[in-house]
Amino acid sequence: MSTQAPRPRVWVSRPLFDDVLDRLREHFDVEVENGDHDWSHEQMAQKLRDKTGAVLGVADPVDASVLAQTPLLRAIANRGVGYNNLDLDALKNAGVVATNTPGVLDETTADFAWALMLAAARRVTEGERWLRAGNWKGMSFHIMLGGDVYGKTLGIFGMGRIGQAIARRASGFRMPVIYHNRSRVAAGIEEDCEARYVDRDTLLRDADFVVLTVPLSAGTRHMIGAAELAAMKREAYLINIARGGIVDDAALIAALREKRIAGAGLDVFEHEPEVPAEMLALDNVVLTPHIGSASLATRRAMASLAVDNLIAALGCGPNAGRPPNVI
Ligand code: NAP
Repeated sequence: MSTQAPRPRVWVSRPLFDDVLDRLREHFDVEVENGDHDWSHEQMAQKLRDKTGAVLGVADPVDASVLAQTPLLRAIANRGVGYNNLDLDALKNAGVVATNTPGVLDETTADFAWALMLAAARRVTEGERWLRAGNWKGMSFHIMLGGDVYGKTLGIFGMGRIGQAIARRASGFRMPVIYHNRSRVAAGIEEDCEARYVDRDTLLRDADFVVLTVPLSAGTRHMIGAAELAAMKREAYLINIARGGIVDDAALIAALREKRIAGAGLDVFEHEPEVPAEMLALDNVVLTPHIGSASLATRRAMASLAVDNLIAALGCGPNAGRPPNVI
């Protein structure tokens, strides 16, 4: 009678494409959740207690309190590029490898930043709500007057992979691009993006569209608050496709209500999935449910890359021991 070593157990915290899951099942015993669920730290610990690896969503928290209860855990594959749900120091101390999915979502997320810019300035969702409510009684020269996009100055906070993809689209709109990072990008990238480095205050002062593409970290939490909103032009729009918490939502609500800026486009919120009632009541903000990378092809690519990472991190497949995207 042969005795086979038990296969490592892996948890997938949210539904995933079946064919991608099958690739995990070739190597591991897979427990997959068939519905979306916001996991508490206690629930994460309970689910991960007997697991060697996991594919997680970007809202699924792992910190020292979770890791203290997960003795078998060796690898976490985040299904997204942001990883503010993970305490990297705690993971390192526990000897758990963490990976993410950079690169495969840049263009799709950049498209979405433009969707929000255009929708906010040209009042697309507001106009549709108004039409669906039966308010349109005939052509009027004066309804839904918005701001222009063409020719305006695009300001990008966070000229990384996604920020650069947003900037490259600006030439068709004949928009000058300014950007701010902690460090200036290489001259070749500036040339390719036709972008000029400026300090933070200049960006806030000169941009007609302030687009946020920085990761959420201690250094970027509430990076845009009352003072920064006050420094923006009255005709300017704030676009956040990065993470909730980078913007102080209460300060933004006040600025939008008092029309101290023209409008905003937000894909992410401080207390997701809750969106403040005061924000829902405002017409000068376009609100979407964290769908920046949500094209079918890109979500498939993200799922596939997360699974590649986990398989490799757990010592299997062609890249055994060499996961492509260690954080
Ligand atoms: P990335 O390539 O790492 O770029 C981030 C940029 O932000 C870098 O250029 C970095 O430059 C800059 N930065 C970091 N901290 C900063 C600070 N304190 N002040 C100013 N600039 C700062 O990341 P990415 O792949 O473009 O992704 C960016 C973020 O977008 C992710 O972390 C994720 O949270 C978010 N995202 C959201 C969605 C969505 O569905 N809405 C989809 C994808 C990604 P320096 O290091 O030189 O400062």
